[in-house]
Amino acid sequence: MSSTAFRNYIDGQFSEPASTFDSIDPSTGLPWATMPAASIADVDRAVEAAHRALRSGPWAAMTATARGKLLVKLGDLVAANAGRLAELEMRDTGKIIRETRAQIAYVGDYYRYYGGLADKHEGAFIPIDKPDMEVTVRPEPIGVVAAVVPWNSQLFLSAVKLGPALAAGCTVVLKASEDGPAPLLAFAELVSEAGFPAGAVNIITGFGHDCGHRLTSHPLVARVAFTGGPSTARRIVANTAENLAYTTLELGGKSPVVVFADADLDSAANAVVAGIFAATGQSCVAGSRLLVERSIKDDFLARLKRKAEAIVIGDPQDPATEMGPLATSRQRERIEAIVAESVAAGGRLVTGGARPVGKADGYYYAPTIIEAQDQALACVREELFGPVLSAIAFDSEAEALALANDTPFGLASGVFTSNLAKAHRMARGVHAGVVWVNTYRAVSPLVPFGGYGLSGLGREGGLDAIRDYTRSKSVWIRTSDDPIPDPFVMR
Ligand code: NAD
Repeated sequence: MSSTAFRNYIDGQFSEPASTFDSIDPSTGLPWATMPAASIADVDRAVEAAHRALRSGPWAAMTATARGKLLVKLGDLVAANAGRLAELEMRDTGKIIRETRAQIAYVGDYYRYYGGLADKHEGAFIPIDKPDMEVTVRPEPIGVVAAVVPWNSQLFLSAVKLGPALAAGCTVVLKASEDGPAPLLAFAELVSEAGFPAGAVNIITGFGHDCGHRLTSHPLVARVAFTGGPSTARRIVANTAENLAYTTLELGGKSPVVVFADADLDSAANAVVAGIFAATGQSCVAGSRLLVERSIKDDFLARLKRKAEAIVIGDPQDPATEMGPLATSRQRERIEAIVAESVAAGGRLVTGGARPVGKADGYYYAPTIIEAQDQALACVREELFGPVLSAIAFDSEAEALALANDTPFGLASGVFTSNLAKAHRMARGVHAGVVWVNTYRAVSPLVPFGGYGLSGLGREGGLDAIRDYTRSKSVWIRTSDDPIPDPFVMR
């Protein structure tokens, strides 16, 4: 992991790439490492290796218990190597070391959780309505999985795919994003060290139009697990028209955070900051739409402004840093354009809206709050994937709910109130896969995660995730010794 020349991991080997590209350190804007660009031939090799491992050899013969032990070992290795992996993620994506270390150590728990579940996913004995039959249902691995992830929190986003897929007995080709792939390519060394048989897990990186397209449309792929943006998701779905792979999609969001006047406002303000400025706002669950009760709006925005302006922006490797750079320059350019458009259309800039002073190198952008009168502004409607919060006042619970649900997305949401009944009503009414009440940005391997509407399809995490990587086989056994009766009548 000390080298700055990374390689793809295919069929149990680190292979020399035919072509490479530079990876940029977002805190300096300069290249720092060389990444392998997987070609279509590399993708084919990886998928074929995964298919072979699925059908024959040590992985195919392994008991669920043995697979579980391998996953637990991998989880231990991830936790033990969290420091090194965190530094690579920090360097390659600009995410602050303060968070990457803690988050990656916790990723170990995802592998341990699915390792523990591997031999607890049982089939069924059907109490069949025919006296001379016995029917059992066997859960079998669905097949070769193509896992495609974006650059943010990629070890975590991979664990929620690899964990249940491998527990179920599938084999995987994981494609890291072309932006910031270093930690996943280094993670491949831990897969090898854990002792997974060749072909069970293959880890590559490359570009979407060739490598990603070939992987998700490959005829030997039976399952696609994708995390990324909605426009890429549409291309992925089109790709799977080729192989009809069962597909789950974890997409973006425009998550509302509703703050009522009766909330603990200190705590709510911290949660709003966590929701939109942690990870520089580059989080699918970013709480990017603040809805605040009108009677406390001015006070609450003043608190947020003070907190936003006190955020320590800087070098992601400094443990004192609270907000690092954006991951790419194109990401910052898009945010700048949407903020400018929103302010020109009547949004009131409460704070930020510019590159921070004294940070000429790197893709830094100041924590930004824009007050809006309604939800028409671009900064209220579009996912920015950056540190930009829109704020709108509401007068009633019904209005808060209507505003919260006025979006095609539905990934996460936050509700801040001291009224238990109101919290329950809001949790019931909000159209989102996650509702956090008096908290924000909490995750666990035990809890299902996924979106409504444009935020995605399917759920990751929790017990049911394994089911999504299996298909059931119904086995009918006739227990009668009598000859089969009338062959022209279905039984
Ligand atoms: P992206 O959609 O641009 O890329 C994601 C992955 O898809 C990359 O690996 C990319 O190479 C690949 N890809 C691109 N085109 C492809 C194609 N035609 N065929 C196959 N693969 C292709 O996403 P991004 O900009 O890297 O990440 C940001 C997005 O991810 C945001 O919208 C964010 O909300 C979302 N996200 C969602 C979650 C979640 O769990 N819901 C988590 C993190 C990020």
